[in-house]
Amino acid sequence: MIDIKHISKWYGSTQVLDDCSTQVASGEVVVVCGPSGSGKSTLIKTVNGLEPFQKGEIFVDGVSVGAAGTNLPKLRARIGMVFQSFELFPHLSVNQNLELAQVKVLGRSTEEARERAGSLLDRVGLRAHQDKFPGQLSGGQQQRVAIARALAMDPIAMLFDEPTSALDPEMVNEVLDVMVDLAREGMTMMVVTHEMGFARKVADRVVFMDAGKIVEDCSNEEFFGNM
Ligand code: ADP
Ligand code: ADP
Repeated sequence: MIDIKHISKWYGSTQVLDDCSTQVASGEVVVVCGPSGSGKSTLIKTVNGLEPFQKGEIFVDGVSVGAAGTNLPKLRARIGMVFQSFELFPHLSVNQNLELAQVKVLGRSTEEARERAGSLLDRVGLRAHQDKFPGQLSGGQQQRVAIARALAMDPIAMLFDEPTSALDPEMVNEVLDVMVDLAREGMTMMVVTHEMGFARKVADRVVFMDAGKIVEDCSNEEFFGNM
């Protein structure tokens, strides 16, 4: 599904990704971990074209991300992304946040979009908050809305960039629980996180980065086997 092949990236003369290769098969959950500044966030953002790269190639469902002529907006619409900061539209209600791209990008009718939004809000436990604005919700609730919004687009894969790092500790689990459910339902996921309990529970593979390099890429059993 996601095939990252020999990616290198520089900012000016500083190399931030150094010959990174890994794959995420359909239905697989890959957790990316490693020290701060090691390139995790940059790597995950190359997958949907948010970060350009100078060397290598990435294929998502057979489409080359870096190639000239690739329709990046179209590709991004098929890959859900959840960031550390929730990035909801502050002036739109929860429902409107979920409906907007469904209508504008996928061309769904308002009724269809609302129905899909409603079922996803049920799923993340937030239907009762559908008419609130993001600022009226807790961080954990906002992040669950952000996940529901990404899912509303029926993505073929989901990327998560430290989705719980900005949350108060008591809200981390409500977000991780939603992600665990998604993983168990077979969603293809690439997750940058420091939550090793989550990784141990659902990761099929763990990729460990250091100084721009993938220094380990192994199965859950290999990674956690001795811990
Ligand atoms: P991580 O997610 O592992 O914390 P990042 O991918 O955010 O690491 O960053 C990798 C390296 O790239 C860091 O050294 C960071 O300072 C650098 N970096 C990230 N974005 C930029 C940028 N826009 N310009 C220059 N350096 C950057
Ligand atoms: P994240 O890890 O979630 O991407 P960061 O705090 O690392 O968040 O980066 C926030 C923004 O700042 C990003 O757009 C990133 O590209 C940019 N950035 C990060 N490090 C640097 C850097 N050393 N120089 C310039 N821009 C940077």
